[in-house]
Amino acid sequence: MYSVTKRIDFCYGHRLLEYDGVCRHPHGHNAVAEIEVRTTTLDARNMVMDFNDIKVLVKGWVDRELDHKMILRYDDPLVKPLQKLGEPVYLLDSNPTVERIARLIYDVSRDQGLPVARVTVWETPTSWATYSND
Ligand SMILES: [Zn+2]
Repeated sequence: MYSVTKRIDFCYGHRLLEYDGVCRHPHGHNAVAEIEVRTTTLDARNMVMDFNDIKVLVKGWVDRELDHKMILRYDDPLVKPLQKLGEPVYLLDSNPTVERIARLIYDVSRDQGLPVARVTVWETPTSWATYSND
């Protein structure tokens, strides 16, 4: 298999509900997402995919939907006050863990038609989560 990986940097805030640790408080991350695309053959340009196409499709979505937003569980009591203040939120049906954010970006990449094999999201330089089709 051929494989290319595009790195996307973004910032987000979140907190974890029903969690016994400091992450129950609102806080933010400078995240790095790696989108790995795999194919068995190369295209006419001898590429798996143009890096710019991944950037346009996935980074465009991440910039619009996640970057500099609070990612919260839909029933988090913070949702309504933040919306009332006009602050941007992105809602998930689960706790907004880095695992779920990796899955979200994987699903969005697949829905954009990319032959995505793996999405890894680094929450900190030492902690990351991966969702893959393996
Ligand atoms: Zn966190």
